[in-house]
Amino acid sequence: MAITICEVGPRDGLQNEKTLLPTGTKVELIRRAVAGGVRRIEATAFVHPKRVPQMADAEQVMAQVPRDGGVSYIGLVLNRRGFERALRAGVDEVNMVVLATETFSERNQGMTVEASLRAWSEIAELAHQAGVRASVTLSAAFGCPFEGEVSPERIRDLARRVVESGPAEIALADTIGVGVPTQVTELVAAVRDVAPGVALRCHFHNTRNTGYANAVAAVSSGVETLDASAGGIGGCPFAPAATGNIATEDLVYLLDRMGVPTGVDLGQLADTGRWIGAQLGTDVPALLGRAGTFPEPRP
Ligand code: ZN
Repeated sequence: MAITICEVGPRDGLQNEKTLLPTGTKVELIRRAVAGGVRRIEATAFVHPKRVPQMADAEQVMAQVPRDGGVSYIGLVLNRRGFERALRAGVDEVNMVVLATETFSERNQGMTVEASLRAWSEIAELAHQAGVRASVTLSAAFGCPFEGEVSPERIRDLARRVVESGPAEIALADTIGVGVPTQVTELVAAVRDVAPGVALRCHFHNTRNTGYANAVAAVSSGVETLDASAGGIGGCPFAPAATGNIATEDLVYLLDRMGVPTGVDLGQLADTGRWIGAQLGTDVPALLGRAGTFPEPRP
């Protein structure tokens, strides 16, 4: 079975980097990912620029993304206002975030979980009317920096609520990178149970070096799409020592060697990882750019 890679570097990656990049560099990152075969990209977030200054140029980014590759561009939104901005900016999909715990939801989004579920159903209805795909990410599904363990029952209940509004996809996010493969299997089964037939996506951070093992568990569980960021850039403002998302090039290497097609060109993505590291003035966590691929391409 093929896996779709969703490149989240332009949003989740850059949002959590200290260095603010110019719009042109963000667009170049997207352009390079598209050239490398990525067909789904979380391009930006339509959130308040005071809260997230890294995403203040959302409209400008969307105005410049390449439109000839059949790429689906996702805009992250948290409310109706964000949805309307995203729609005007020409996104192909919106993704709404619902935090799994009350404390994280209040701190991150300034709203209760119940309020974010209500916002989701409003966004879902507007998206259906506009013919835009709408998906939900259940964030901190594998553990919360404030409340600790999150039970599978909690995730099942949230998925049951979310599915009432007909999401195109449900994503499970290990926002602070605490999950392990057995948890992936368990949570995927819990969501499938209440949302049969709904496409699933998983989002892993490699904070404790479990991200790639979790990705393999997700593939084995039949998850269709995996998020990853070029170079493994990013972090999490609520988990100070957190490293970024799993790296697109390291994930593609792993899947390539397992015989799982992704449509993504390994060499190009490794170059992109190194390139974005240079723009950020840092060595990226991805290892493929350092170790090289195997077997070496013939000259
Ligand atoms: Zn993330």
